[in-house]
Amino acid sequence: MALDSQCLFCRIILGEIPADIVLRNDNVVAFNDINPQAPTHVLLVPTLHVENAAELAQLSPTITAELFSAAAEIATQRGLSGHRTLFNTGADAGQSVFHAHLHLLGGRALAWPPG
Ligand code: 5GP
Ligand code: ZN
Repeated sequence: MALDSQCLFCRIILGEIPADIVLRNDNVVAFNDINPQAPTHVLLVPTLHVENAAELAQLSPTITAELFSAAAEIATQRGLSGHRTLFNTGADAGQSVFHAHLHLLGGRALAWPPG
């Protein structure tokens, strides 16, 4: 599916907006969150424009799984003793950028439940 020239994360994928890229392959781009909530806070996005994780899961279970395996790779590389992966889906869940993205958080003790 095409990228959307109006979308912030599509523009990061295209290199039009700078980001701290930590991993890139054909299907996944990962970059540091601009407002990190933990010492590791990486966003992993599919290289196709899809609004949220629910739509991505229906469109491509394979790419959905690739986001998780890329997150695990980063967590292992960094030697994180624990980490959290999550998608916010919909404004009521806290989604603010409507290009599906997997948050990878780690490097500190994480409280549960989230707010
Ligand atoms: P959401 O609230 O949609 O689940 O997560 C969006 C995330 O994108 C937030 O954690 C926010 O800090 C991050 N973010 C927003 N704008 C930018 C940006 O321009 N660059 C980067 N690297 N992250 C951004
Ligand atoms: Zn997009």
